[in-house]
Amino acid sequence: MKTIGVLTSGGDAPGMNAAVRAVVRTALDHDLQVYAIYEGYQGMVDGGGRIQPMLWKSVGGILHRGGTIIGSARCDRFKDRNGRLQAARNLIHNSIEALIIIGGDGSLTGAQALQSEWPGLLRDLQASGDISPEQAERHQHLPIVGLIGSIDNDMWGTDMTIGADTALHRIVDAVDAITSTAASHQRTFVVEVMGRRCGYLALMGALATGADWVLIPENPPDVEDWEGKMCAVLRKGREVGRRDSIVIVAEGAHDRHGRPISSQYVRQVLEERLNVDVRVTVLGHVQRGGSPSAFDRNLSTLSGAAAVAELLSAERRTEPCVIGLDGNKIRAVSLSRCLTQTWEVEKAVQAQEFSRAMSLRGHSFSESFQIVRTLVRALPHPVESGRRLRMGVMHAGGPAPGMNTAVRAAVRLGVDKGHTMLGVRNGFRGLAQDEIRELAWMDVAGFTSRGGAELGTNRHVPEGGEFYAIARNLEKHRFEGLLIIGGWSGYQAALELHQRREEFPAFNIPIVCLPATINNNLPGA
Ligand code: ADP
Repeated sequence: MKTIGVLTSGGDAPGMNAAVRAVVRTALDHDLQVYAIYEGYQGMVDGGGRIQPMLWKSVGGILHRGGTIIGSARCDRFKDRNGRLQAARNLIHNSIEALIIIGGDGSLTGAQALQSEWPGLLRDLQASGDISPEQAERHQHLPIVGLIGSIDNDMWGTDMTIGADTALHRIVDAVDAITSTAASHQRTFVVEVMGRRCGYLALMGALATGADWVLIPENPPDVEDWEGKMCAVLRKGREVGRRDSIVIVAEGAHDRHGRPISSQYVRQVLEERLNVDVRVTVLGHVQRGGSPSAFDRNLSTLSGAAAVAELLSAERRTEPCVIGLDGNKIRAVSLSRCLTQTWEVEKAVQAQEFSRAMSLRGHSFSESFQIVRTLVRALPHPVESGRRLRMGVMHAGGPAPGMNTAVRAAVRLGVDKGHTMLGVRNGFRGLAQDEIRELAWMDVAGFTSRGGAELGTNRHVPEGGEFYAIARNLEKHRFEGLLIIGGWSGYQAALELHQRREEFPAFNIPIVCLPATINNNLPGA
């Protein structure tokens, strides 16, 4: 293989430039020629000046830029075989032997169509004299690798699509800003986020901002009078002291009968039933725009490099693949499986089979939904039965953003199951000095977006007589479990306690370390 082409297509997504840069430079590094096909499939159909060779410097200074410097477009002509015939001719005339296509499911469907028809297109081009038999021979195969660029994170086959993380950052920033004004005026806000078919941004946005209610297409409210339920939750929240209420609505939200739920409708309901001042913010294109997050730059860079490697390792592949992220590993998956599974979700939603839609979205999506549902409650569920435990929550190590968020989740999920959650202040020093206090539901309100560690943290690892003091406090407060959210010193301290459990039976309890450090260097995570 000597020459490859790269294009970005469909809706633009932050990180596309980083992907193009990685593709171009990795390819050049392997002595390949790279052509950029400008304006997506439109450029492939038009040919001429829209197909340009790329040099190392052509992709300089673009890593941090939003959008795509090689342009993206929607091209109806490519949806017809005639358009694709023209595109095939242009590829061959430029000696392009393989493609890397960065786009959403529409663009990748186009890629699939092009590849499956390739032998027929070659025959037609040869018959019409557009290409020579030698050209036909040289271009027998058209290997294609796709990268999923889509802010919605709406495709099967990758944990994260390129652009979704940046869009989520935009949403979180916007909702944080709205929350402060909402809290000042005790207002209610309805925030509409992108996601016609996929609730990822709405759901994760709600999880990340501690929003009060979220509406997503995959799992509409499960009761007929969802409006009443939503209003009851928001009312209750005010009664227990919340100053702001935020409802996040995915643009494709609908009820269980498929009737759309618009942000304006939600506003009307809240105004009428709660008699409060409600504002609507439609975030729109700000979610797509701007500089990509570090995560998106790196995902795109690693995926772009992997795409070239994939083309080189499987030159004669006849089945297109997609580069995706699977549990932090970059891997190639079959494009057709990716598309089929993605469409399955949509079919399930259309058939109103919502539990199937949720399970197709994957375990962590469903789990996140359940967690949001619990955490947004104004008060925990009434607990009827089951064992009630007394569990400690504390930090150890340097502060890491997210520590408070983890405390909030642990406390609320614990309390919701009827357990008593005991907050330990100032790490192991505090545990030795009895700085221990029960944490109730509203004690962790507002924790989601706060940096630092509200409970206090330090790198102290207990020693000497402190073990005795700690054992006494664990007994005094009847600890039956301990969650340590922190860094290396938390791991060390946990091990120290565990190793002394013969001497101090109070240490013989389940101890869980939740790794929290800005260094990303803890074992097990
Ligand atoms: P996205 O890739 O972001 O999902 P679109 O759905 O608009 O965006 O698709 C982008 C382009 O991909 C379309 O304008 C068209 O050129 C091409 N495309 C989409 N669907 C098909 C299809 N079924 N067959 C061929 N080409 C398609």
